[in-house]
Amino acid sequence: MNLDDRVERARKLLAGIEKNYSSAALSSSFGAEDMVLLDLIARDGLAIEVFTLDTGRLPVETLTLIERVRHDYALDVQVYTPWPDSVEAYVAEHGADGFYDGVEQRKACCAVRKVEPLRRALASKRGWVSGLRRAQSDSRSEVVEAAYDPTFALWKFNPLADWNEDEVWAYLRANHVPYNKLHDRGYPSIGCEPCTRAVKPGEHPRAGRWWWEQDGAKKECGLHAIPIVLQKELA
Ligand code: SF4
Repeated sequence: MNLDDRVERARKLLAGIEKNYSSAALSSSFGAEDMVLLDLIARDGLAIEVFTLDTGRLPVETLTLIERVRHDYALDVQVYTPWPDSVEAYVAEHGADGFYDGVEQRKACCAVRKVEPLRRALASKRGWVSGLRRAQSDSRSEVVEAAYDPTFALWKFNPLADWNEDEVWAYLRANHVPYNKLHDRGYPSIGCEPCTRAVKPGEHPRAGRWWWEQDGAKKECGLHAIPIVLQKELA
């Protein structure tokens, strides 16, 4: 399938989601894949909400891109933030950067700053659109375009499941889509500032996420580490 065909397939999927799974939302961390989907949604004027999780630890480059998207696309990006009391309790117990002390402490931070706000964001939704691709990591090799998510009790859609990295960037460049400037500095995957670093040539694209942890299989934050139980063909 060439890029034009992939784009048409993604557009058709997104239109079907708008029509049949309202209300639906794109969860965006403003990485390259999310910008492809945001651009497609905006281009076709689809009634699919775009939201992001502002953990309080995002890099300035991501915050700058959010503001640019708001301006350039005239898009009302919904921002979900963690409960202040929960952050305070985490910091009191583990310290502000307690996530460096171990996987459990790291997952506890992600639970407070990411997973709980995600639950709120998805609470009233029937469809969840994400930019996951199979080629991003071993833990994502089973990602499909559409599957029921039992954890959040909704349908989850990954319109770029089959895309490779070159196709993502070919779309962004051909359509002059704004992107996170950290990508130009060796960050293929971008998350919170203290938990993400640039990767070296030849390193795995997600090697910069929680780089101090040795077990690559555990390098997810709890947002997407969800079993897929039922696949659906939409196109
Ligand atoms: S990525 Fe790091 S700072 Fe962000 S929520 Fe997870 S542990 Fe906390």
